Amino acid sequence: MSDGKTTRMIKQLDGPRPYGVLVSVLVTLLIIVVLGGGDFGALAQKRAKQKPQRTTSLKSHSRDSLSPEARELVELASVAVCTERLSDPKASVPIDDMQARPSLPVQSPEAVVGAKRAQRLLPAAKGMVVISLKRLARDYDFRNPQGYDARLQRAIARVEAVRNIRPDMDSRDNASVFLRNPHTIVFGTIFLAGLPSDEGIISVLAHELVHIADGNEDSLNVLFRAVGNRASKLTGMKIHDQRAEELTCDLVGTLAARSYVAGAPSYEPLPRRLSRSLEHNCVEQDEGDDDHLSPRNTIRALLALNPALSRELVYGR
Ligand SMILES: [Zn+2]
Repeated sequence: MSDGKTTRMIKQLDGPRPYGVLVSVLVTLLIIVVLGGGDFGALAQKRAKQKPQRTTSLKSHSRDSLSPEARELVELASVAVCTERLSDPKASVPIDDMQARPSLPVQSPEAVVGAKRAQRLLPAAKGMVVISLKRLARDYDFRNPQGYDARLQRAIARVEAVRNIRPDMDSRDNASVFLRNPHTIVFGTIFLAGLPSDEGIISVLAHELVHIADGNEDSLNVLFRAVGNRASKLTGMKIHDQRAEELTCDLVGTLAARSYVAGAPSYEPLPRRLSRSLEHNCVEQDEGDDDHLSPRNTIRALLALNPALSRELVYGR
């Protein structure tokens, strides 16, 4: 399977997958192109998605939208994340800032340290992704007699088969996975260096692992749609298709980072550690596209979906 790249500030972790769009016939053709054409096919597809779009703001015009109190909590938590970043020595670098940085050789000390951290945390990230996917399967109620469990099992097997992190200078501030090599996550060196905490790296690894889990059979499509629909209702933003997939990947990223924090206690304050899974979205230039919410709206949507996380960020417990 292939995942995409991110483009610049549009979003972090990667970008649209070449087949992740509408029509299944096209999907199949694209997969053939990617499999046959190597990186070029994949990258070319990803590059096609860069057009910035007007960003959407949180609005409440749905019956299921956030209450005024819940909306205020989301805003407070989102401010808390980006405020925490300013004083945390291990804070993640915002992706628009990463994007402006010069390319970083694979042998540079920051990239080496980051690649080692990512490789060390990969087994833990895989375990937490599996747990998070099972939890979401329950919470979003998408098990059904038509065999969703079988698809979930195959998705989990794909996660468990991932083995390698490959640092890559040309990937810069992106991470990606490719169809023809689903055992490897490619991690741009600027991205590795820009995420100097375990929590930051875990959130990105988890994001990529969810793309891998979805695979070329779109195993998690039902889940993506359910998460996107719920986030759309809560926030009033349009979160469907690829946006729903990307948001679900980010949601699992925050869940995995939360599990990691729970399992690896430290003296650092809880909001500081939790913020690291989100603060690469604390951009100055807040632009989204068809496939991604803008970074700051991504933070809001994730917090709207996870009020417990919002409370922990604001109240520290
Ligand atoms: Zn992604």
